[in-house]
Amino acid sequence: MKSILLRMGELFLKGENRCIFENILITNIRKKLEGLNYTLERTRGRVLISNYDNRSEIIERLRNVFGLVSLSEAEEMDAEVETIRSYFKKMKVDGTFKVEVNRADKRFPISSMEFAAMLGGDVLDANPNASVELYHPQTLIRVDIRSNKKAYVFDKSLPCQGGLPLGSSGKALLLLSGGIDSPVAGYMMAKRGLKLQALHFYSYPYTSQQAKQKVISLAKILCDYVDEIKLHCVSFTKVQEEIHANCAAEYMVTLMRRIMMRIAEIISKRENLGAIVTGESLGQVASQTMQGMTVTEDALESLPLFRPCIGMDKEDIVKISKEIGAFETSILPYEDCCTVFLPKNPVIKPKLEKVKQEEQNLNLQKLIDDALAGEEIIYIKRGE
Ligand code: ATP
Ligand code: MG
Repeated sequence: MKSILLRMGELFLKGENRCIFENILITNIRKKLEGLNYTLERTRGRVLISNYDNRSEIIERLRNVFGLVSLSEAEEMDAEVETIRSYFKKMKVDGTFKVEVNRADKRFPISSMEFAAMLGGDVLDANPNASVELYHPQTLIRVDIRSNKKAYVFDKSLPCQGGLPLGSSGKALLLLSGGIDSPVAGYMMAKRGLKLQALHFYSYPYTSQQAKQKVISLAKILCDYVDEIKLHCVSFTKVQEEIHANCAAEYMVTLMRRIMMRIAEIISKRENLGAIVTGESLGQVASQTMQGMTVTEDALESLPLFRPCIGMDKEDIVKISKEIGAFETSILPYEDCCTVFLPKNPVIKPKLEKVKQEEQNLNLQKLIDDALAGEEIIYIKRGE
């Protein structure tokens, strides 16, 4: 019978908390496999999936579960010497190979080394053209003998996402624009165990309906990994018009970003989210200088701002964007609300005092309240 062997990553490092992490991981695996037929079994340090019919779909979904490092499809059999040997005697092997045995169950009567040599002999008997190569074998055949009295034989491992189980680090609000960076930032933080909600600001009619649709598509791509996202859409038109009409043009972006932060913090607190995430990267654009970011995050009262892309080159961000399948959508040519009223010469090193003075020209409270009054919530789920 075929089974899929799942390997957990850093969970091993978590000491007493390991059990909690494992439970979250198992719940997440079940959620990811919703709607498919399978059985799940836990043995020490491994999760086993068997009795499945839709093999490729199961494997594709499992590969997107955070907290799993790799998986192998294996042949499952009773952990009896003769049963395993008779399977090896029928095995077809070409070229060079090596057999490796891992005994998680030490009650198995033969030592790992001895048994590997025995099985290697069985393969050689059945395959006159095969030969043993211990250092660089073309095929590495592994036998995993588990405490459930079953043995698993496999020769391939597929990498999974790694990271920590989704939700094991808490929940956060991702500021999701239509660009390349913010979906990558969301993916990176989700990989470290943060469950995500998202917030998007749009500037209809200055930005099109398609721009919003693009953000919904990006959130849906993230759902391949995080299963579901509650997306908050807030109109930023009035805020931008008011800043444009009442404040110094070069402070436009700085002022906008501070209001974005305030709105993000209010939503986060209401939704019980513990951090805010953006796709900012040091020096990438005028507002992402050290001084610019200092002034931006000053607008937050108490929540931390996570910027996982901060030290990354654009190339590195693009690489991840492509890997997670977001890139083609991110580069669709619809304008972002930030580009609409973009001044010719934005301040590179804004001074907090000056920014606060400019804010005096606005009725901040009313702008924020009005923006939130028009908040629209869209529930996005994987596969819908
Ligand atoms: P991105 O590629 O993510 O759009 P960017 O390099 O274009 O980023 P900015 O436009 O300055 O940079 O935005 C920096 C960050 O601010 C974004 O990564 C995102 O987290 C947030 N942000 C920008 N615009 C919006 C928006 N319209 N709605 C929500 N968040 C936004
Ligand atoms: Mg942008």
